[in-house]
Amino acid sequence: MEAEIITIGTELLLGELVDTNTRYIARALREIGLDLYRTSTVGDNIDRIAEEIQASMQRADAVITTGGLGPTIDDPTREGIAKACGVETVFMPELWRQIEDRFSGFGSIPTENNRRQAYIPAGSTPIENPVGTAPGFIVETAHSVVISLPGVPAEMQYLLVNDVIPYLKQRLGLKSIIKSRIVRTAGIGESMLDQIIEDLEKLHNPTVGLSAHPGRVDIRITAKAKTNKEADKMISSVEATLEGRIGRAIYGKDDQTLETVVVDLLKEKGMHLAILEAGTDGALAASLAEYPEVIASTQSLSEIGSDEMLSAALKHEMEKVNAQAGLLLAMKPSREGNTAMIHVLLPGNEHMEHKSYEAHFVNMKTRSVSYALHWLRRLLLAP
Ligand code: ATP
Ligand code: MG
Repeated sequence: MEAEIITIGTELLLGELVDTNTRYIARALREIGLDLYRTSTVGDNIDRIAEEIQASMQRADAVITTGGLGPTIDDPTREGIAKACGVETVFMPELWRQIEDRFSGFGSIPTENNRRQAYIPAGSTPIENPVGTAPGFIVETAHSVVISLPGVPAEMQYLLVNDVIPYLKQRLGLKSIIKSRIVRTAGIGESMLDQIIEDLEKLHNPTVGLSAHPGRVDIRITAKAKTNKEADKMISSVEATLEGRIGRAIYGKDDQTLETVVVDLLKEKGMHLAILEAGTDGALAASLAEYPEVIASTQSLSEIGSDEMLSAALKHEMEKVNAQAGLLLAMKPSREGNTAMIHVLLPGNEHMEHKSYEAHFVNMKTRSVSYALHWLRRLLLAP
């Protein structure tokens, strides 16, 4: 199934108005799986509108126009479409009543000009406009359908979402479904990830997009397909590619968070975690505050000692509270910026590393918490 969009208005051709309607409609059509191969713009001229409509109707199953439905002589869309379909425009008393009602709603009466807006091509179905005065309309022919919407973006959008999209889905039998999965990663920066999966981000279906949070990047895969099963298959194939390229950074899917994943691993292994942090105002402990069942102890120091001293304090604390897992995060300010020291201690497994940030780096703490949890997860998974 194929659609075309025609925006109508001399202002658009004069470069006085940016055509945002086409973009909005194009996205809405993409969402329902209606292909768009051509869009055009034509001025306020009956003959040229008629010509353009006729050409589009020959190619497309649905033609959507915006603009030129106002009350004045230079709003010629009604006449242009009627001409293209070989019919007259007819007065619709019901539409006129709606227009009068709207005007009386804000305490005025419509002008004689507004009567023009109650005329639509013979045989067409009006689309009531509760957010403006110009009603839209739908003309159905044997091979195509023309849908005419007002130019004012807010009005156009309202009618598109509430009337036109449901109508098109039904008329054209569009039953495609859209499904998304979020693949959650930590430990790789957004720009690095962007480079690694650049080719995937250019796909059209499924689409792949990134959204970054401090220390974590989510990858959203969205597939459009006829059936649920087909959408799942398309998503799985991208997921498999991601596994292959960045498997170690993937910590979860959809609703999982780094915190829930770490907590689940600790529970699975029957481990309790001792947390020691310094210079973070307890941000690490706060991130796990909802899961006291896996926490053996938390300690937040405002004094920041040497690496050796901090590591020794962590070991000491673990022994004291009989914790099998220990996680240390210390933020150390320096003239060049800040360094985060992360130390993970597990039976037979240990990891220590330093991460430096530029002086004015925002979200440093949140980022370091993500990083610390990422390393804890990695080591909990290590054989
Ligand atoms: P009205 O009843 O308000 O006159 P109309 O259907 O006649 O609506 P136009 O006169 O063509 O629509 O456009 C009205 C206004 O809507 C324009 O001045 C402009 O602000 C906006 N508009 C029209 N077409 C577009 C478009 N393609 N993209 C963005 N804005 C548009
Ligand atoms: Mg107008």
